[in-house]
Amino acid sequence: MTLERFAHYIDGACAAPAGGQYLPSDNPFTGQPWAEIARGDARDVDHAVQAAHRSLKSGAWPALTASERGLLLHRLGDRIAAHAARLAAIEVRDNGKLLSEMSAQLHYVPKWFHYFGGLADKVEGRVIPLDKKGYFNFTRHEPLGVVAIVTPWNSPLMLLAWKLAPALAAGCTVVIKPSEYTSASTLALMKLVEEAGFPPGVVNVVTGLGGEAGAALVAHPLVRKVTFTGADGTGRLIAQQAARDLKHVGLELGGKSPNIVFADANIEDAVNGAVSGIFAATGQTCIAGSRLLLQDEIYDDAMARLLAIARAARMGDPMDAGTQIGPVTTRAQYEKVLSYIDIGRREGARVVLGGGPASRPECGQGWFVEPTIFAGVDNRMRIAQEEVFGPVLSVIRFKDEAEAVAIANDVRFGLGAGVWTGDIGRAFRMAERVESGTVWVNTYRAVSYMSPFGGYKDSGLGRENGADAILEYLQTKSVWINTGAATANPFVMR
Ligand code: NAD
Repeated sequence: MTLERFAHYIDGACAAPAGGQYLPSDNPFTGQPWAEIARGDARDVDHAVQAAHRSLKSGAWPALTASERGLLLHRLGDRIAAHAARLAAIEVRDNGKLLSEMSAQLHYVPKWFHYFGGLADKVEGRVIPLDKKGYFNFTRHEPLGVVAIVTPWNSPLMLLAWKLAPALAAGCTVVIKPSEYTSASTLALMKLVEEAGFPPGVVNVVTGLGGEAGAALVAHPLVRKVTFTGADGTGRLIAQQAARDLKHVGLELGGKSPNIVFADANIEDAVNGAVSGIFAATGQTCIAGSRLLLQDEIYDDAMARLLAIARAARMGDPMDAGTQIGPVTTRAQYEKVLSYIDIGRREGARVVLGGGPASRPECGQGWFVEPTIFAGVDNRMRIAQEEVFGPVLSVIRFKDEAEAVAIANDVRFGLGAGVWTGDIGRAFRMAERVESGTVWVNTYRAVSYMSPFGGYKDSGLGRENGADAILEYLQTKSVWINTGAATANPFVMR
């Protein structure tokens, strides 16, 4: 079988890898490669960063007004909307998530480009009412420079949009290093970037391995900011490199999010939220509600409902509209998820559903793991503390609000949290006490381009989405104009 082959995208054109090597891109449903992507190295990265740097400093991009930049973003959003179905299908082939989910994401992605396109010409400086006479002082917000965007495999284009749209709106130029498992959709996007009218060199893509292309990009001296979504260990490496070079850094990392159900909640809604919190996207989202905290009084009822829903989930081909749980994206992740199921068993938690690879006929040769629920979990167990990034739920009992808060916060992550309650006062108290970048009350997993998203504690640095996200790609200049103050000779003694 001949595989589709993808090159880098640099300076407005496809570019073969300097080393001449390609990496396979696998379809998680078949377990077989369907495409090849360029294996980038430091030479490709330098080529791309130089192109981005040239486009930042001269030519058509810096000559545009902010409104004109915003218009290009708008056009890109429109192009993505017109091609959403095609882009979603490419993503499913690479990451195995459900076509229904990827289609919904791709139909939503244009909003980031429309929203930040609209913001591009609304970034205003200030006039400072100085404490000194004879000066006029004002601020300007200027683009930070070349931005390195490093993305993961779970929602490639959506997570890219969170970074790309504000970076371009701010006037930066970018080099993207998508995940080596899911580069195809980002490369397909480049055609739309061209059609929207972005000048060559403003958006570049170098594909390849994290330790090669990714590391070279993060370390490149002309990169001024690195924005990364992925594993927290990788985030630490990137932050260390950025610290050595004094680069700006934004990190969206993992989570171990609690979904907390109080006895006064609507239990049916809560259980539905818990199921979608952990089994949607096969648990491969940073905001997976991977710890379900159930209050003693409703534990048996909620557990029975949970098992009934999860047991009925249909697994199979992610392209099929009837499928509810797809495969795990990579073989490595599949093995990691299974190893955590073993860890949970050895720690003494009880498997009440699933607990191994799925061998259902409709799963074929794909990397499927049965939806797995552990009961009798103690929050100090590794399956309650570490991110599994798969369809594995740890259920923990609690007796009262204070204990729920203590368990929710007794983890090094703080990305998302769900609170299910019918008591408005409790909803506000919990929203205040849970240490997490997002708290959802009587809902779970909602995100919007308008609302800030990011992590407390080890879940990250900086915020994406919302109007302030554009500031993450700008730097402030203070300009002083002498309007009449005397400039004295410093060497004359007075
Ligand atoms: P990963 O950290 O292995 O890879 C992410 C990206 O970083 C890939 O493009 C990879 O090639 C690159 N990379 C790896 N090593 C690098 C290095 N040394 N230097 C530069 N780049 C490097 O993560 P993953 O396996 O793709 O994604 C899964 C993880 O991402 C999970 O832990 C999950 O929680 C997290 N995640 C977080 C969010 C969020 O918004 N907070 C979203 C999605 C995923």
